[in-house]
Order: sequence, then C-alpha cells, then structure tokens
Amino acid sequence: MTNTLLPNAQYGSAAQFLSTPKKLLINGEFVDAASGQTFVTINPATEEKLTDIARGGVEDIDRAVTAARQAFEHGSWSSMTPSQRQRILYRLGDLILENADELAWLESLDNGKPASVARVADVPLTADLFHYMAGWVRTLEGSVVPVSDLAVPGAEFHAYTLREPIGVVGLITPWNYPLLIAAGWQMAACLAAGNTVVLKPSEVTPLSILRFGELALEAGIPEGVINIVPGFGTDAGARLSSHPDVDKIGFTGSTRTGRGILKAVADSNLKKITLELGGKSPDIIMDDADLDVAIPGAAEGIFFNHGQCCCAGSRLYVQEKIYDRVVAGISDYAKTIRLGSGQDANTQMGPLVSKNQENTVLGYIQSGLDEGAEITTGGHKVGDKGFFVEPTVFVNTNSQMKMVREEIFGPVLSIERFSDLEDLVQKANNTEFGLGSGVWTTDLSNAHKVAKAIRAGTVFINCYNVFDAAMPFGGYKQSGWGRNRGKEAFEAYTETKAVYVRLDGIHHTSFACG
Ligand code: NDP
Repeated sequence: MTNTLLPNAQYGSAAQFLSTPKKLLINGEFVDAASGQTFVTINPATEEKLTDIARGGVEDIDRAVTAARQAFEHGSWSSMTPSQRQRILYRLGDLILENADELAWLESLDNGKPASVARVADVPLTADLFHYMAGWVRTLEGSVVPVSDLAVPGAEFHAYTLREPIGVVGLITPWNYPLLIAAGWQMAACLAAGNTVVLKPSEVTPLSILRFGELALEAGIPEGVINIVPGFGTDAGARLSSHPDVDKIGFTGSTRTGRGILKAVADSNLKKITLELGGKSPDIIMDDADLDVAIPGAAEGIFFNHGQCCCAGSRLYVQEKIYDRVVAGISDYAKTIRLGSGQDANTQMGPLVSKNQENTVLGYIQSGLDEGAEITTGGHKVGDKGFFVEPTVFVNTNSQMKMVREEIFGPVLSIERFSDLEDLVQKANNTEFGLGSGVWTTDLSNAHKVAKAIRAGTVFINCYNVFDAAMPFGGYKQSGWGRNRGKEAFEAYTETKAVYVRLDGIHHTSFACG
C-alpha cells in the first residue's frame, strides 16, 4: 500500500467542516436529533473517527416531513416562477463546482474512494445533474388535446393537461456514491419538478451530503424544501417509507431493502415509488474485440469504485478462442492496482466502505472457493488497519454458484467462457437482475445483436461505467422500477392532471364514463 498524502488546497476546509459535530438539516436549520443521540462516522482506511453525527430517528423524520409539507403547501418552491427555480438550481450546481475539492475530500474520507476520482467523477457529475435538471424546470408544461365526439356526443371541449409536482418526496440512498446518488441522481430531478424533499442518506457516509445541505441554503433553496436526516434504515428509513404524509419514495439500494420498502409503501398510503436496486451485470468480450482496449476496460468495469458500483461488470463472459489470454490479461491488470488510502495521491483503489462490507466480500470469496471456483489473483484482506480487500479474479465458476448469482458489491470478478451468441445470451441473461451490461467487439452487427438481446437497463459497447445526466438509468427485472437521470427521471417526479372545459354551455348528465 502507498502513503504519499495528496496535496489538496481544500483539505483545510474539509478539516474545518469535520471539527464540529454534524447536525440534521430540518426546515432550513441544522439541529440536534430530538433524542439527543449521535453516532460516529469513521475513515475506512484508518478506522479512525472523523466526527459525530446527530442520529435522526422517527421523531426527526416526522419533523422533517412536516417542514417539507409546509414548504410545499406554502408554495415557496413549487409556486416559484420556473425561471427563479431554474436559477437557484443552476447556482447550486455552480456552488458544487466551486467547492469541488472540499466535497471530494470529504467523500474520500467518509467512503474511502480516492479523492482524485471523486474530484473528477462524483462531484462534477453531481453538479452537471443540477445544471441539466435546471434546464427541465421550464419545460414543466402540458398539452392541448383534441377530444373525441364520443366523449359526450354533441358537446364541445377545450381539454388540456398540466404537469405538477407530486408533493413531499422521501429519498433513501446508499453509501457507494453518497453525494452523486443522493444529490445528483435523486434530488436534482425531484427539486426541478417543484417537490420538497426529506432525505435519509446512508448512515455510513453522511458527510458530503450534509455539506451539500449548507450549499443548498447558500444557493437560495427556501427553508423546508431540502431536509436531510442521517440515521439508520431500521428506524429513520422505515418511518420515512411508511410515513402517511409522504407522497413518493425515491430509493436507491439493495434489492432486499427495496422489497421491504415496497411493503411499507403498500401498507401505508400507496405513495408513488422509484426503485434503483442491485445488479449482477454481465460484461462480454467477443473474440473479435480489440483486447488492448477490452482487457483494461473490462477490468475497470469491475474494479472501479472498488467494485461498489450497482452496475459493476461482475460476471465476465469471454469467447472461447481468447479466453486464456483474457484471464491472464485481467489477472495481471488486477495485480497492478495500487491499494491505499483514498487521500493518497498514488492510490488507485481505496478500502471498502465498512467492516460489514469487508466481511460480506470476504464471505463471498470463501463461498466461491467452497463451491469449487479457483482464484487467479487476490482473495485476501490487506493490512491490519482499514477495510482493504485485494482485487480478486475467479475462474471455473458457473451460474449455480452463490458468488455468481448474488451481488457482491466488491472487487470480485468471475470469468466464464462462451461458445457462440446463443450460448452467450443464455448465460448473460441467466440472472434475476437486469441493471447494466457491456460488450467488447469490433463487429458492428454483433454489438447491436447483443445490445438487443441483453435484458438490462444499460448496455455499454466498447466502454463501461459511462454515466451522463441526460441518459436514463435503471433496471429491468429485479434491478428496479423506473429510471433516474434524463427526462424520464424528471417526469417521474411529476403528476399529470387532465382538465376538461366544456365550451357549448349544455350541462346535462352524461353516461359516458371511464
Ligand atoms: P441498503 O439497501 O442496505 O441501504 C440503502 C439505504 O436504505 C440506506 O440508507 C439504508 O440505511 C436504508 N435502509 C436500510 N433498511 C431500511 C428499511 N428497513 N427501511 C428503509 N430504509 C432502509 O444498500 P447499501 O447502502 O448497502 O448500498 C448497496 C446496495 O445499493 C447494492 O445492492 C447496490 O447495488 C445498490 N445500489 C443500486 C444502485 C442503482 O442505481 N440501481 C446505485 C447504487 C447502489 P442505513 O444503511 O443507513 O441503515
């Protein structure tokens, strides 16, 4: 492991931010939890305490929902002119960029990822989502619709639709991209449509989103519009998803938790819901691929963000003729990845986010060995301090094995061979998930055939892990409901209202009904 501290002008600001205990953002103010309880957030590279965080519970979620409801009903945000709302969201995107070094540093300290990566990926992509969604604000428009003469025979109508915000949205988010998912993927679309928000971020990584909360107030987001309540899923998260006065839940996390949230939604007030869930994404190398590009590309497809990507290419399928060369190439690549603290300039892969995650990943590695798979490289914990696990490559795996069927969410790859397209499609689609996928080929026809055949929300061709604000992202099958990012995300945070205006002045009862 390496140990050269990354020079960072904003380290001082991050240190200053960490010098005080962090509070909940409710109704425009940072406040203690009603219970007075706190929890500790730690640096996963050193296991040292970073700071104390107020622990939001049921009462705090209730306070935050009340604030969000009042802000929504008051119209301080939803009734603001679209141009005003657009300017504030755009300004918030600018402020994220102006504070990018500090946000990246906080992300690295809390999550473990390299600050250098957060600085060029997580933070600017978050800002871009605010800039992009600010553009949608002024398109919140309906249409005029011609009405059939069968609706009410002989009557004349002017009929139109309106798109309106849904109301109070509860967001529940994970720890792998703490700022990007909570603020960028979820909140930007939600706010652009005029909703108010109560966010429960993962308790493992609350820092960057709390700093974002300060920036939101600075940008001019009115009080009560954004409320941030770090806390635990079992109490704060459960209360938010079952709260009777929340109109929609936007959830990103595991399929297991998503299923529980769906039950809570059904048993409470049938609020709307978007689910972004887990994945076990196939990445494919055809024998006509440019291997100089495909081998490092597929390796980064799994090892980027330490394998803690929802669409990580964790199942690699390689055509028979090139199988041995690819296994050797990916294993060599994995051996060269430099592990270390995310605050170290030389680090390519940081620690996993927590002890829990380390145990989970090591458990999957053991299960692969127990079921007869073989490791070509990696497989071990590294060092005594911090949650470091080696990039690990398995061969001799099959679709019955637990480590091939289930999401590991760590730097662990299985490589299997396939013979032809039919064999490939059967293997690639043999999963309950359908989030991401990749194909490496120089044959245009094969590229499009595979793109069409794979049952997944995203297909990367000769690339992997590309995320654009304007492109929808979400899952087929048990990887989710609905889409984040792009026009679809914006529309998912709106309701459509149909308005009929009768123009001919006759108002007898009609039995034409729907
Ligand atoms: P979890 O599902 O464990 O947690 C996600 C969030 O849900 C956390 O804030 C958690 O709180 C909260 N939560 C836990 N239990 C409940 C509950 N009963 N009611 C309400 N909320 C609850 O996921 P992880 O945080 O471990 O993140 C990893 C998972 O997220 C992976 O499966 C990954 O695939 C998925 N993911 C999916 C993405 C996508 O776009 N499809 C993107 C990123 C991640 P807390 O942990 O604080 O207690």
